Amino acid sequence: MKPVKHVIAHVIALDVGGTGMKAALIAGDGTLLHQARRATDRERGPEAVVETILDFAAELLELGRERFGTAASAAGVAVPGIVDADRGIAVYAANLGWRDVPLRERLSTRLGGIPVSLGHDVRTGGLAEGRIGAGRGADRFLFVPLGTGIAGAIGIAGRIEAGAHGYAGEIGHIVVRPGGPACGCGQHGCLETLASAAAVSRAWAAACGDPGADAADCAEAVESGDDRARAVWHTAIGALADGLVTAITLLDPRTLIIGGGLAEAGETLFTPLRAAVGERVTFQRLPEIVPAALGDTAGCLGAGLLAWDLLATEVPA
Ligand SMILES: [Zn+2]
Repeated sequence: MKPVKHVIAHVIALDVGGTGMKAALIAGDGTLLHQARRATDRERGPEAVVETILDFAAELLELGRERFGTAASAAGVAVPGIVDADRGIAVYAANLGWRDVPLRERLSTRLGGIPVSLGHDVRTGGLAEGRIGAGRGADRFLFVPLGTGIAGAIGIAGRIEAGAHGYAGEIGHIVVRPGGPACGCGQHGCLETLASAAAVSRAWAAACGDPGADAADCAEAVESGDDRARAVWHTAIGALADGLVTAITLLDPRTLIIGGGLAEAGETLFTPLRAAVGERVTFQRLPEIVPAALGDTAGCLGAGLLAWDLLATEVPA
């Protein structure tokens, strides 16, 4: 046995994505004690992905015991798709082939009975952005990552609103251009078909004639004054502002946190976006529109918060 200098209480945080999963051991003050990544290997099938998660978590439990003198007290897991957080079930995840996976129970069993919290990836990332990231201190916020698609997390008084069926916040499927491009959800003209990083990449690739050009290239061309890029950018920002104003009208958030690949364009995005939203509101109060602060670690940090919340609310037996 190696001597242990300090015993550090911690939790396991896991963020499961379609291609990779991120994990961390996080102390009560938010310190990241250990970080690791692993491939999701979804080609091996839905059950193999679950097994990978269980093995990964069990290794982290052991690593914590060896390195920090005690095993993790709880675990938080963020997963994509539709999540029933109350029952701890991953209801549906198209990219992982999951249907009704009782992930909370399986993890807790594998981890010797410690409490486990299951969350939706975007809502979990939003929890972290709202509490310890760009929205720190905001009682009401909306987190909107602009990536392959567009999702959303509605923050109210330190919690994320999941809705009655786990679909709350799906701002990417607000129809902003009726009869517009076909969306994977079955509608036409959804916000994410026009203003996601993927949509901007497609539009810019078509406009500049380079099939490999993406949204970051488009932002660069906007900065260097390319008129074609400016037109693509303007179209996307107009659609985005329309979608955001719908959300502002419904939710009256104090802070609007924009993340994902498109937000990496910085002020090239934020300056015209603030102006476009400002032009569209009438009676609504303008929220502060800020870039996300935690990048792709938001989901993992949020999973850690879920785990710590569990310990804070747990009634001792
Ligand atoms: Zn849609």
